[in-house]
Amino acid sequence: MKSDVYLIKVKTNALEARCDSLQKLLEKVNPFRDYKKDEFIPIKLTIGDSQCVYNIPPELVKIIVSDIKKTKAKPFLFDTNVIYKGERLNAVDHLTLAQSKGFGYAKVGASFIIADGIFGQDGKEYAIDSDYIKKIKIPSFIGSLENLLVLSHATGHILSGYAGAIKNIAMGMVSRPTKQVQHSSLKPHVIDKKCTACGYCVKICPANAISPLTPPSPQRGEGKGEGYVIDQTKCLGCGECLCACKFYAISINWSEDHAIFAKRMVEVAHFILSKFKNKFFITFGLDITKECDCISTKNELIFSENIGILASRDPLSIDKAMIDLINKDKDLFKETGLLDTHKTMFDYGYKKGLGALDYNIIKI
Ligand code: SF4
Ligand code: SF4
Repeated sequence: MKSDVYLIKVKTNALEARCDSLQKLLEKVNPFRDYKKDEFIPIKLTIGDSQCVYNIPPELVKIIVSDIKKTKAKPFLFDTNVIYKGERLNAVDHLTLAQSKGFGYAKVGASFIIADGIFGQDGKEYAIDSDYIKKIKIPSFIGSLENLLVLSHATGHILSGYAGAIKNIAMGMVSRPTKQVQHSSLKPHVIDKKCTACGYCVKICPANAISPLTPPSPQRGEGKGEGYVIDQTKCLGCGECLCACKFYAISINWSEDHAIFAKRMVEVAHFILSKFKNKFFITFGLDITKECDCISTKNELIFSENIGILASRDPLSIDKAMIDLINKDKDLFKETGLLDTHKTMFDYGYKKGLGALDYNIIKI
């Protein structure tokens, strides 16, 4: 059976016009009509790294919050902490960053909550009977509320190929142990002949898993070794060093590891979504960058033209539709050097009942 995916095309970079388009989409689709007075409406989003300028802007989020408030329901924004270094590693810095990026109540009209506690460890644990994930830890409010709204920014991603709704849920709605488990097959190694011993990956690694291979050498300069090595027992598999190394000297076994990563994400997303009765997904195909909002900087490569805003009740269809629209004329993911992990995610997601691969595009 096909799922409905609503599309409003947006080609402009002007924020005001983007806001108008979102407003029009909400008016036509009316996705919040069943929300009840006083019920909490969790809105999942990411505010992006401190340097990222392409995350979903607070002005667009405010429009959604205002629309929900017309139903007298109580929306709140939430995210979880990340597992790599930066200002979203703990709830204190994460909340400060949210305020500074405009995601405070004063600007958006809803509170922003870090759902997995100060250090990303809080949550409720479940045993699950899946092929790749046996245990899952998720914020404890999941299971107590009926509705879920997921806002995603469509981007590329070094491991998942495409980062949209499914990745947003699988990585962004779990506590730290489940983030690590999903990454656990991704244990990178240093390619000796490419490593320049710049030492940058050492600063990035959250697990202190990377160290010089030999003691510092005068020829290399102070603090630099002859090469670097990753301690597989300490590595969390977060993939940060893969992005950080500008010399392509860090690699994983791409052919196997990323497929398992995709399947784990599907199993986690499927479990989380089973805890909500009413789900709705809005994905912004605007400023589509090669790296996701956790990494991207002001200089991040935008590899596709603006597509517009998609909305659906089906997470698989909305992700598939966005990629099909991006790749309308040619495979831009391949051209940009991104992996096709999302293909495994779609096939496995369909097999697991996450959603439909066929969809009707309803143009607004
Ligand atoms: S960032 Fe790359 S080149 Fe620099 S030390 Fe690490 S592996 Fe070597
Ligand atoms: S993937 Fe890289 S950055 Fe992440 S923990 Fe392992 S070695 Fe460190």
